[in-house]
Parts: sequence; structure tokens; C-alpha cells
Amino acid sequence: MNYLANENRYTEMPYNRTGRSGLKLPPISFGLWHNFGGVDVFENSRALARHAFDLGITHFDLANNYGPPTGSAEETFGQILKKDLLPYRDELIIATKAGYRMWDGPYGERGSRKSMLASLDQSLKRLGLDYVDIYYSHRFDTETPLEETMGALDQAVRQGKALYVGVSNYNAEQTEEAVRLLKNQGTPFIIHQVHYSMFERRLEQGLQELLAREGVGSIAYSPLARGLLTDRYLDNIPADSRAAGGSVFLRPEDITEEKIAKSRLLNKLAQERGQSLAQMALAWVLRKGHVTSALIGASKVKQLDDNIAALKQPNFTEEELNLIDQILAG
Ligand code: NDP
Repeated sequence: MNYLANENRYTEMPYNRTGRSGLKLPPISFGLWHNFGGVDVFENSRALARHAFDLGITHFDLANNYGPPTGSAEETFGQILKKDLLPYRDELIIATKAGYRMWDGPYGERGSRKSMLASLDQSLKRLGLDYVDIYYSHRFDTETPLEETMGALDQAVRQGKALYVGVSNYNAEQTEEAVRLLKNQGTPFIIHQVHYSMFERRLEQGLQELLAREGVGSIAYSPLARGLLTDRYLDNIPADSRAAGGSVFLRPEDITEEKIAKSRLLNKLAQERGQSLAQMALAWVLRKGHVTSALIGASKVKQLDDNIAALKQPNFTEEELNLIDQILAG
């Protein structure tokens, strides 16, 4: 049967303006780094994408190398578009990126014009699309002049293959230079994709101020610390979790006693607020408009429901914020 999106999907979701651009993003966006690879169960990936859209999550984030195997998350999402979501293309913001290793040889990674533009063509093919909404430089490349990488982003826009551009994992200094170059070219640089959670606060050391000053939006990736800021690991490492699944990005040794002790204290506070730990972690990332959107992952539909409910209780008292800082410093 054909998929029909939930007709109430826009009734409750507030959308945030991305920096000073005209583009609005949902406060919670959905990332396809995990659970959309060729190794994953297609019907689960499909159910996740459909459910996210039914909840009003209009933004889906990809990269050339997401899988495994690399490229397969874009293929999976391409299939989901074809089967279910293409009739809604104009309601979707689809992002992809290039910069990390994708194919063999000297052009399969980093930020050269050759690599960035070839990778975008490959991504569009896998997705079955003519354009993506946001194209990112996934990381700063110390070997390529920034003019060249930013020039490639600009070219992608001028070719009609991307509507907006962004950078990810650039520090404040690199971002400032990117802003300068992209402004000069008239390229719509609207967003910075940055690692930000209670456990990763480097955004607060200068970058956030710069983005606010320059009118560039921000999207916080891994706001749940890959699952550590949820109830997933409070007692053990569940067999169906990312840490048990062999992901090199969350290994059992990353689940340290220190982190879990902090998560337990945070969980207690969340319970006192009447929230799950995941909900509190998302509300915290989004507090006072710190970021435009929180970019979550999920392996189960019920996690999406849990996470979206964070929007029902967004506010913190000063006392709660201080307590969180104390727990994190502890
Ligand atoms: P999160 O920090 O949101 O972690 C997601 C994981 O947390 C899920 O897979 C799930 O783990 C667990 N989880 C989520 N919700 C709940 C819940 N309510 N209760 C219990 N557990 C929950 O983000 P990710 O690390 O997945 O990253 C999100 C996205 O950010 C990526 O998909 C990608 O798009 C982007 N990203 C970008 C990077 C960059 O360099 N630009 C780097 C990393 C990510 P489990 O699978 O164990 O159930």
C-alpha cells in the first residue's frame, strides 16, 4: 500500500530559522549515520524514516560515507524516497557531505574541488535526486586551500545540485575564514554541523558566538552522546545497543564508570523534571536557542517518540542548569 504521511504532522512541531537564512528546520532532525546501512534491516530503516516524517521531522542528514558499507545509507534512503517519500520532496530537507575517505586513490577523500564535486554527483546518484538541500564540507582539509573547498561548495550551488551549503567539524578560526570566503562568493552558507552535547561542549568556546554574530545556524550532532545520555547504558550494555554492535564510534570501553556515574545523576534530575534522560539531554542542547536543531540517531521507532517529546518541556530553571554543570564538572 502507498504511504500516506500523517496529516497532523505539522500541527505541533515548531520550526526554527537557520541563522539569518530563510530556511526553517525542525528542532529535532534525524541522522542516518547508523541503522540505514546495507547491513541493517531495510524495513526497520524505512519505518524509522516514515515515522520521523510523520512526527514533523522534515530534515534528514546523510554523508557520502554513511553505511556500512560506505554509500549504502544514501542508497537505502534513495529506496525509501522512491517507495514512500518522493511525493513529499518539497517538504524535505536532505543533506549530505563529503570529506572523509570514500573511494580509493587520492581523490576519494578530503576537500579538493575534484573530490567534493565528484562525491556530490555520486551521492545524488545513490539518492536518486537532482539536488540536495544542504551540501557540507564534512571536515577541514589541512592539505587543500580553503578557497578551493569553498569554491567547490559554491560551484555545487551554481550547478543547481545543492540549495545551501554548510561546514562540519571546523573550529572557530576555520569557520571564520569559511564565512569570509563564502560571503565574498555570495554562497548561501547557512549552517555549521557541530558535535555538541552535555559531554561535548567545545561549541561554547568561541564558535557559538561567531555563528551568532555571522548569522549562521547550527545543528548539534550526537546530542545524546551516541546513547550515553539515555537510559540505555545505566545498568549494563544491552545486546541490541550500538556499543554491543561493534561500532567503532561507541565501543564498550567508551562506556566508562565516570560517564555512567554522571549519566545516573543526570537521569535522577531528569526524572525529577518528569522527563527521560534523552529528553532532558535534547532540551538542554536546544536551551535558549543555543542551536537551530539537535541531530539525533535512533535504532527504534519508540526512541523517536521519546525524543520528540523533549519539545514538550524545553525550559530549565537556573538552579537546574547549575546542577547540570556541577554534575558534568564532578
Ligand atoms: P545520538 O547522540 O542521538 O545517538 C543516537 C543513539 O542513541 C541511537 O542510535 C540509540 O542507540 C540511542 N538512542 C536514541 N534515542 C534514544 C532514546 N530515546 N532512548 C534510548 N536510547 C536512545 O546521535 P548519533 O551519534 O546517532 O548521531 C546523529 C547523527 O548526527 C548521525 O546520524 C549523523 O547524521 C550526524 N553525525 C555527524 C557527524 C559529523 O562529523 N558531522 C558525526 C557523527 C554524527 P542504539 O542504537 O544503541 O539504540
